Formats: sequence, C-alpha cells, structure tokens
Amino acid sequence: MSTNGYNDSTVFDYLIIGSGAAGLLAANRLAEHGRVAIINKGTFSESNTWYAQGGIAGVTAMDDSVEEHIADTLQAGAGLCHEDAVREIISRGGHIIRELAELGTPFDTEGEHLHLTREAAHSHRRIAHAKDATGRAVGEALLRPVVDNPNITCFQHYMAVDVITARHLGRYMQGPDRCLGTYLLTPKSEVVTIAARHTILATGGAGKVYLYTSNPHVATGDGIAMAWRAGCPVMNLEFIQFHPTCLFSPSGSTELITEALRGEGAYLTDAHGYRFMPEYDERAELAPRDIVARAIDHEMKKQGGDHMYLDARPLGKAKLEEHFPNILKRLKHNGIDICKEPIPIVPAAHYMCGGVQTDVAGRTPIDGLHVIGEAACTGLHGANRLASNSLLECLVMAELCAESIKDEAKVPLPSLPEWDASGVEPESERVQIKQNWEEIRTTMSNYVGIVRSDERLRRARRRLAMIREEITSYYWQHPIGRDLIELRNLSLIAEMIVKSAQSRKESRGLHYSTDYPSLLTEAHDTILTPEAL
Ligand SMILES: Cc1cc2nc3c(=O)[nH]c(=O)nc-3n(C[C@H](O)[C@H](O)[C@H](O)COP(=O)(O)OP(=O)(O)OC[C@H]3O[C@@H](n4cnc5c(N)ncnc54)[C@H](O)[C@@H]3O)c2cc1C
Repeated sequence: MSTNGYNDSTVFDYLIIGSGAAGLLAANRLAEHGRVAIINKGTFSESNTWYAQGGIAGVTAMDDSVEEHIADTLQAGAGLCHEDAVREIISRGGHIIRELAELGTPFDTEGEHLHLTREAAHSHRRIAHAKDATGRAVGEALLRPVVDNPNITCFQHYMAVDVITARHLGRYMQGPDRCLGTYLLTPKSEVVTIAARHTILATGGAGKVYLYTSNPHVATGDGIAMAWRAGCPVMNLEFIQFHPTCLFSPSGSTELITEALRGEGAYLTDAHGYRFMPEYDERAELAPRDIVARAIDHEMKKQGGDHMYLDARPLGKAKLEEHFPNILKRLKHNGIDICKEPIPIVPAAHYMCGGVQTDVAGRTPIDGLHVIGEAACTGLHGANRLASNSLLECLVMAELCAESIKDEAKVPLPSLPEWDASGVEPESERVQIKQNWEEIRTTMSNYVGIVRSDERLRRARRRLAMIREEITSYYWQHPIGRDLIELRNLSLIAEMIVKSAQSRKESRGLHYSTDYPSLLTEAHDTILTPEAL
C-alpha cells in the first residue's frame, strides 16, 4: 500500500482511457517513463480504429511532398483548418508510417516500396494500407507490445464514468484546475476510483448519436462528455462527416459499402430504379462524398423513404467477383446477392471533425487532463476531413502527448473520495433508457443530419433538452450501468452538436443549412464552453 491509501492497482502515472490507435500508441510511448493503465469499455477489437479500411495518409513517395499534402488538407477543410496544426501533423506522416511498418504493420508493398492508394481530394497516391483492413492491422501491431509490457496494465470491459478534478473536490484554489483520476465502472457494476498523475482521454468519436452510423457501439462520445463536464471547451461539433453509402438495416446498425463500387460504375437509384444523381451534379455518382450524401438525403426526405439503392449490377458478375470479393461475401451473408439485386443504402454518420479543443499534443485547460485522437479537435480537419488523415492525427497526437508529459515530475497524489451511491433506488423501468436512446438517435438523424434548417434545429433542441433533463434526474436516482452512462453522454453530445449547428450562420464544409446556403467571408470556429448549455 502507498502512503495515500492506494494500492498498486488503483494508482498510475498515466491512465489512458481508450485503446484505439491513439490510446495504444500513447501507452507504448509512456511505458518506459512510469506505470501505465489502458482501459477500454469493450475489448481491444471494438474501436473505430479496428474498423478503418482505407488506410493512413502520409508522404512517403518521391514524387509527393508535404506541402502538397498540406495544401490538399487545407482545401478539404474549407477555410477552417488551423494551419499550424495541419503543418505539425502532416509533416510527421512519413515518419509515422515508417514506425508502424517497423512495428510490424503488414502494409501492402510493390517491390521495395509501399503500395499507395489515392483517395478522394488527394492530389497524389499517398495512402499506405494493409489490404482493405488497415485499422485492424495497425491496431494489432500497436497492441502486441502493449500486452507484453509489464509496465502496462490492461483493463477490458471497464468504463470511465467521469474524471475527478481538484475543483470537484473543492481543493481548487487558483490557476488551472488539475485532473487527479477517474471513476471506473467495473465488469461487476461497481465503481472504483483510480488516481493518476495524467489522464489521457482517447475515447474516439460519437457516431452512435445518429441512428445510422458506420461506427461500432463504443462510439458514444464519452471522453468528450467527460472533458466537458470537467470544464473543457469543445470545438466545431457541427461538422459530422456522413458516408453516403452504408448498408441499410431497419435496426440502425450498418456497415460501409466502399466508394470504389461507384468509381467502377455502380449507380444510385430510388425504389423505382430511377437514377437521380445526374440531376444533382454533372459528375453524377462520382461527385464528392458530401454532395452524394446530400443528394441521397434529399431524395429520401422528398420521397418519404428510409433508404435508397446502389445498383452494382452494371459492373457484371465477373468484375464484381474479381475486384469486390469481400463485399460480395459480406452482403451475401446479409441475404443480398449484389450480382442480381440492388443494395439498400443509407448515408451514415462516419467521422466527427469536432471534439474537445486541444493543441496537437492533446493539452486541455486542465492540468493533467489530455484528449487525443478523434475525441479531440486540433483544427487539422477544419470543416471537412481529408480522407485517411484521421488515423494520422491520432498517432501524431499520441506521440506528441507522450513527449510532452513523459519527463514531468511525479507529484504526490491526494487521496480521492469513493463514488457516492447513497440514496439511489433500484431500477424500476429500464424502458425509459431504451426509449430515450431511440429518441435521441432518431431526432438527430431526422433534424440534425446532412441538411439542416433553423426550424429542424429548433425542434431538435426542444426535444433534446427535455430528454436530457429526464436522463439527468434518472441518472442520479438509480444505480449506473453502461447503457445509462452512454445515454447520459450521448444526450449531452447531441445537444452540443445542435447548439454548435445553430450558431453557424452559413454553409461550410460538412455543415449545410437551407436557411444560410452561402459561405461567410470570414471563417470562425464554433467554440462552446461548459456554461453554454
Ligand atoms: C468504418 C470506418 C472506416 C474508417 N476508415 C478510415 C481510414 O481508412 N483512414 C483513416 O484515417 N480513418 C478512418 N476512419 C476513422 C478512424 O478509424 C478513427 O478516426 C480513428 O481510428 C479513431 O481512433 P481513436 O484512437 O481516437 O478512437 P477509437 O479507435 O474509436 O478508440 C476508442 C476507444 O475508447 C474506448 N472507450 C470509449 N469510451 C470509453 C469509456 N467511457 N471508458 C473506457 N473506454 C472507452 C473504446 O472502448 C475504444 O477502445 C474510419 C472509421 C470508421 C468507423
């Protein structure tokens, strides 16, 4: 036992919440400087990282340059990127890819060189990839040294509930607040207190705030909500990237249907087989992702349907079998023979450009609290993410965060109070949780999706405020469980997205409003502080 009442399993130098690309790399880097705990609320294979398909962007080819990658990133970001963050992150792309290769990531190669693909809006082939399952390959390469390291303790199925700061304990005097640790929900549904000198939130995005999302179940914005409750500002949450073609399923769960199918000649139709894209853009199905997603959304709203179709039959059976064997197999598993019938699709929330406002090293206004990866907003993506820049951002942030804290003096930690569960009553009606989950996700999809308007946002805000009030009172009266914690976080994130969207009086990048269709001359970030709601 240590002098402050902790034992070895409840005090760490570095507490990393989240085991996607950002969390795993941070753990690897910090293990030689102190005791590390890495937590995830599911398993190591449940993260956005694990699902990433395309690859990771970085300059490794002789005919490419960092300046061109920077220019492409700024162009995609529609005037809202922070150029200093863009420079810092993009200039490390080649180095990060080499490091991943050294760690054993099985990137595809062509002779002695990496095989690079080119994705939308990149001026060069610069995406390093491992077949069409890059995220999993990167995750596995980063995980191996973590599980073997005696200085790292892994906690699976442990969920962070809230961070503990000096201000919450009434010990905050003046100057910046300090993060001291976190409450964790254990697999046995108990809440334990973990003290840490540094807490790193690497909890990923919040795709689950929408009914249709390409994100796995863990993406409920927990880290963003925790940081906000601790007092951190959030930035640019209105910019949600929707993937135009995800498999439609009435239950809401969905998976990506690669854009390469459209690239090879598949086209989009309504339920009557009418091909609508040429009405929206002369490039038809090959228009940029946000234009295609908006067109599908418009047709769905106009026709009152909940999905459209992607018809891959024009490619022919032979080509589909040769070039798209995985998708053929996956969809067959779902009962769809894409050689014979169109695929039901729906645009789905895919990536969150906004997050907790940080610098590139994940610093927040609270000492000892850092946010990295998709949960953070550094200004790299601006109003729209350039494809495959996100894994890069996660890894660069993890590296810089570790670099910035590894040599800090190891100050003693005060003892922290136990979680107070007095006064809670056994759950009576779990139906409330289910009802509110569904309502939040449907409201967000119907009113705060790809195309927004003042009226839709007002309606959403009214409903969400009511739901959040209900959830807050339920939360403090009943024992907490994973779904209740997630629901509380999602309701907060939903309201913050709406509030951010309401304050943007223009259409820029991924945010499109029918009331303000044009672009303002000056670009401003949307920053919400915890007093804003
Ligand atoms: C289908 C798909 C395809 C993609 N393709 C690409 C691509 O090709 N290239 C690219 O650059 N990007 C891609 N992206 C985006 C990219 O994968 C993510 O932005 C990135 O992986 C995020 O990494 P992260 O480490 O920040 O978070 P994640 O990888 O999402 O990890 C989050 C971790 O936090 C944990 N967690 C969350 N809340 C809690 C809590 N309360 N307590 C404990 N643990 C918690 C989770 O369990 C998980 O371990 C894709 C995303 C998806 C969904």
